[in-house]
Amino acid sequence: MPPARRTRLGIMGGTFDPIHHGHLVAASEAAAEFDLDEVVFVPTGQPWQKSDREVSPAEHRYLMTVIATAANPRFSVSRVDIDRPGQTYTADTLDDIQELRPDADLFFITGADAMEQIMTWKNVEHLWGKAHFVGVSRPGHELTDFGLSEEVSLMQIPAMAISSTDCRERVAQGKPVWYLVPDGVVQYIGKYGLYLDHSGNMQRPT
Ligand code: ATP
Ligand code: MG
Repeated sequence: MPPARRTRLGIMGGTFDPIHHGHLVAASEAAAEFDLDEVVFVPTGQPWQKSDREVSPAEHRYLMTVIATAANPRFSVSRVDIDRPGQTYTADTLDDIQELRPDADLFFITGADAMEQIMTWKNVEHLWGKAHFVGVSRPGHELTDFGLSEEVSLMQIPAMAISSTDCRERVAQGKPVWYLVPDGVVQYIGKYGLYLDHSGNMQRPT
């Protein structure tokens, strides 16, 4: 018998506040291009404080991510970042997932903007060897590999000019987010009254 092929596991990290179709297309395209068996979505932990805005409670972001990915048998959601106290660092995410899935080769999927933040000199030395990095195109952002390593691949995906920031603003202004986010996420946002104001005064799910 030929040796078993190692699992190819995509990791899609994000705040997912809320998850939208840009995230889902990025994961799906990377999975097809890199022959990934699965993609795990990993919502970030709750930042202690964020200068610009209040991030929704982790449990809301986690549940919206579950709802959005539930129908795809190759997509799942991990709690590793939301259950780890403190700020989320990509190196910790990769270590935790690798410990849970020692059988898997990891592919970290990131949009052009986040790629820029992750690929700082301070960070990269902690990241090399832990995963292959897949940078996907995103409207409004330049996709560059910074010439850092062959562990980074870039790919063009269908342009989805959607951001969570725009979705939050639309809800706050009473505009629809239908078809920008999955139907179940539209309903979840309405059910808990998320994003109605910018004060961060949101109900927690019970
Ligand atoms: P926010 O506006 O709150 O920053 P966001 O839309 O940028 O939200 P994040 O949760 O910050 O979403 O992003 C998670 C990951 O998904 C990042 O790697 C980001 O670059 C990528 N991403 C987000 N939206 C898109 C998109 N429309 N196309 C491609 N990649 C995207
Ligand atoms: Mg973002």
